[in-house]
Amino acid sequence: MLKEIIDKFYLDKEKFRKGQTSFYISEAGKCPRQIFLKFKNAPKKDLEAAFLRLFDHGENMHKLIMKPLLSTRDIHVVASEVNIPPQEIVRGRADAVLSDGKELFVLDIKSMNSMIFRNLKEPKEENVLQLQLYLHFFKIPKGILLYVDKDRLGLKEFLVNYNPAVAEQLISGLTILKKQITDNAVPARIPGYPSYWQCQYCQYLEVCKLGEAEEMKWEELKEKIEGLNGKKE
Ligand code: SF4
Repeated sequence: MLKEIIDKFYLDKEKFRKGQTSFYISEAGKCPRQIFLKFKNAPKKDLEAAFLRLFDHGENMHKLIMKPLLSTRDIHVVASEVNIPPQEIVRGRADAVLSDGKELFVLDIKSMNSMIFRNLKEPKEENVLQLQLYLHFFKIPKGILLYVDKDRLGLKEFLVNYNPAVAEQLISGLTILKKQITDNAVPARIPGYPSYWQCQYCQYLEVCKLGEAEEMKWEELKEKIEGLNGKKE
């Protein structure tokens, strides 16, 4: 009985989530076609309630990590849950900006399961890209990626230096994608499709399969989606 009630809470929350109108900083480095399809509200595979609960769990982990940082004198939390300065391309909120008395650091906390944590020897590429955008918009040259093992609460941290070329490339990619969304041009599939890890977790894999590998018109893909839905009815 309780499982059904709790599952419904998460599934309803996901169902009534509003359509996306701007890019999230966590989408840095993500497959442009996947983001495009999200903007266009294309049909997607439903997430399981247990998976949605993991997001909440991640947020609680962040609070747990911030608690000692907020109470120590060894490091100063200048601000927590800081929005990036408003601009036209992307929005996002960093976990914290810290100061050791000499320098500022943008802190980004990520949680993961024990198996991934154990094998983590260097920061994940997608996390570094996201942090590069924080560093760019906050104009802070250094950031820290702090990984938390959700199962055993172990910690690993990596210092990341600002790389202006990487940040500019990401912003330029998002600017191109913004134009593709306006022009109804579906971006090409990401290199490595379909075995690339992003495809394995992609909620739009079935829709993506219907399209061409290269850039194509949204109207054409939409017709194929509607045709498939018609066949299923
Ligand atoms: S299946 Fe792969 S290429 Fe297609 S939208 Fe998803 S991530 Fe992109």
